Amino acid sequence: MAIHYDLAGRTALVTGGASGIGLATAMQLARNGCTVAINHLPDDPRGPEAVARLVNEGHRAVAAPGNVGDAADAVRMVEAAIDKLGRLDMLANNAGTPATSRMIQPHELDMITEELWATVLQVNLLGVFRCAKAAAPALKAVHGAIVNTASIAGLHNPGSSLAYGATKAGVVNLTKNLARGLAPEVRVNAVAPGAVDSPWMVEWTNEQRANSIERAALKRRCTPDDIAEVIVFLGFGAAMVTGQTVVVDGGLTL
Ligand code: NAD
Repeated sequence: MAIHYDLAGRTALVTGGASGIGLATAMQLARNGCTVAINHLPDDPRGPEAVARLVNEGHRAVAAPGNVGDAADAVRMVEAAIDKLGRLDMLANNAGTPATSRMIQPHELDMITEELWATVLQVNLLGVFRCAKAAAPALKAVHGAIVNTASIAGLHNPGSSLAYGATKAGVVNLTKNLARGLAPEVRVNAVAPGAVDSPWMVEWTNEQRANSIERAALKRRCTPDDIAEVIVFLGFGAAMVTGQTVVVDGGLTL
């Protein structure tokens, strides 16, 4: 059963908000009355489509195009979004990339290139910090919250590559230090999703998919909405929770 919030007058910026977990988060927030800025890569048509869909449903949503993997563009994007929203209650730092379309096993070191490292570090780790830093003054002003999207790959699992896993472990650590650094005004938490059925770039074989269901205690894969529900809770509920990473994986890593 979904939890209902009264978010009228509240605002949120969701990075990577045009698809998957980010889109589900933006929709749940908007349906609870929040005005949402949907960040998307500038050339991604799903961004304007998502905004139009929410507006057509009678909700408040604005576009926030920009690349969080680019230092200057990330700051510009966050400042422009706050300008449009008028205030910022929540930042969902959700944009991420595996930078590979197939899983690279930990022993396949030759597949791990400098280019792969650069991409995952810039987007998954530095992007989170950049957006948090740029949003901090506005979040402090209204005692808001940050929710980062980490991964079980940052905790227990190998994930799509060892480089990806390292960036997500970095997000878990950054979440703790941002929670210390932005307290007492701003809470900072993370979710660590397990196997999610989203438009994520990494392809799963039928065997990997069946295996992820078999190994999960709750015997199914996560939906984007399963993750979004916890992101919204950490953003607007959970008043005494900060610095934590909540695993949402149906018991896959139990
Ligand atoms: P997704 O591919 O639908 O979402 C990622 C979004 O980020 C996309 O909309 C993409 O265009 C956007 N994005 C990528 N690079 C960007 C950049 N430089 N600037 C701005 N936006 C950018 O897949 P998803 O599963 O919804 O992924 C959302 C988050 O969840 C990611 O951080 C991912 O690492 C994490 N995650 C996913 C899974 C999974 O199984 N799908 C598991 C654990 C964690």
